[in-house]
Amino acid sequence: MKPFLVFISLSFLFTASAQTPLDIVNAVDLDSMYLTLQEFSGETATTVGGELVVILSRGQANNDLAADYLVEQFNTMNTLSVNDQAFNANGRNIVATQLGKVNPDDIYIICAHYDSVADYCADDNASGVAAVLEIARILSTQCMENTLVYALWDEEEIGLLGADYYATLAQANGATILGVLNIDMMGYDGDNDNDFDIDVRPIANSIGIKDDLLSLLADYEFNLNANVVNPGTPASDHSKFWNKGYSAVLVGESWANDDQTPYYHSSGDRLNTLDLPYYHELSKLIMSYMVSKGGLLPIDNSVTTTATQLTSNFENGTYQWFDCNTNLPLAGQVGQTFSPEAEGSYSVEVTLGSCIEFSDCIEFTTLGVEEFNLLSAVKIYPNPAMSTLNIEHPLIEGMILTLFSIDGKKLIEKAISKKLTKIDISKFSKGVYLIQLTQGSNNFSQQIVIHK
Ligand SMILES: [Zn+2]
Repeated sequence: MKPFLVFISLSFLFTASAQTPLDIVNAVDLDSMYLTLQEFSGETATTVGGELVVILSRGQANNDLAADYLVEQFNTMNTLSVNDQAFNANGRNIVATQLGKVNPDDIYIICAHYDSVADYCADDNASGVAAVLEIARILSTQCMENTLVYALWDEEEIGLLGADYYATLAQANGATILGVLNIDMMGYDGDNDNDFDIDVRPIANSIGIKDDLLSLLADYEFNLNANVVNPGTPASDHSKFWNKGYSAVLVGESWANDDQTPYYHSSGDRLNTLDLPYYHELSKLIMSYMVSKGGLLPIDNSVTTTATQLTSNFENGTYQWFDCNTNLPLAGQVGQTFSPEAEGSYSVEVTLGSCIEFSDCIEFTTLGVEEFNLLSAVKIYPNPAMSTLNIEHPLIEGMILTLFSIDGKKLIEKAISKKLTKIDISKFSKGVYLIQLTQGSNNFSQQIVIHK
C-alpha cells in the first residue's frame, strides 16, 4: 500500500429506514379516515363478513354489523391482538392491544365510543372511531416501548356501559393504565376558529395529560386552539376511568364555546357537516400524544461496512450476525461489530427489549488483488495541499469525486472524466478533509490536509 493511503474502504452503506415522531404524525391520512367515515356512518356500502353492507345503524341493540366491521379493521393490522369483549346481551367493546416492547405493563389507551343514538352520527362518534383506527393503522407498524390499547366502546350513549366494564376490570386486575385519551365528537367547527376542548379533572395524572397535549400543540404548531375545561364534563367514557382513579382526558370539538354540532343526537349528523381540515389537525394532535407517550423505538437496521468489518449503526442493542446464504446465525458473532473471515452475504439481527429488526443482507467483499491494484493506482497530490489538488486515475473511468469536511459535510461532488483532474481548494480553510472516489460500489477514500 502506498504510504499516502490513510485508509481504503469498500462501502455498502445502507441508510436508516427508521421513522421519527414527526413522520408518524404526518402519516395521519385524511383520505384514509374519510373512507372509514363514509363506511362507518352509512354513507357508502362496505364489506363485512364477505357481504356488501351498509352500516346505517349503530344503535345498541342493532350494532353487531358495526362491531364486526371494527374487528375486521383491527384484524388487518398484523401486530395487534383483538379482543371482542362482550359485556352484556348486546354490549361489545372492540379492543385491540399492541404490546409494549420494553414496558409491556405500562398502558396508554386511545378510545372512542362507536354506538350511536340515531342513524349516521358521523360526528358522534364515527369521527372518534375513524381517528382511533387511523392511529392504530400507523402505530401498529412501529416498535413502541409501552403498551398501546385502541379501544372502541359500546353503549356509551346509554350510560357509558362499555367503558365502565373495561375500567372496572382493569382496576380489579391492577392494570397500570398511565393515560386514557378519549375522543368523542371531534369533527365539527361551525365558526371555523379551530377551537377544541380538553376536559380534565385533577384525578391521578390527568392534568399532566392536558399539559402534554398543550406542549405538543405548541411543539408541532398545530392549527388549533385549546380550551381547557376543568372540571371537565363527566358525560363520556373517560369519566369511568376517573372513577377508578386513572388519568384520563376528553378531547373533542368545543362545547365550551358552544360550537358543538347542531345535529347532536340526530340523523342530521352527517359526514358533509364535518370540517375535515379541522378534524385532520385534531387527529394529528392525538397521534402526536400517542407516539410520544407510546415511546417510539426506531431501531436503525443499517450497517456500515469497511474493508474488514461490518458494524450495526444501532447503539445499545443486542446483536446476532447471520449468514444470509444459509440463514443461520453465526456462532459467537454477537457484537455490534463483526469481522468476517470470508467473503459472503451477512445480516445482523438487532434486539432491544422484545423488539427485533433485521438489516438487509450485505455483500461483503474483501479487497481483491485486482481491485487493490486499480485503487492503488489513484494518485492524489500534493498532500498537504494549498490551492490545487491533482487527482490522477490512469486506469479507472467513470469516477465520482466527493470532498468532505472532517465532520462529514459534503463540500464538492463532481464526476471526473479526465485522467488528471485539478480541483481548486483555495477557498477552503486550513484543516483535514476527506476525499472519496466512487466507482460503482467501490469507494476509495483518503484524508488530505489543506494548509495555507
Ligand atoms: Zn358521543
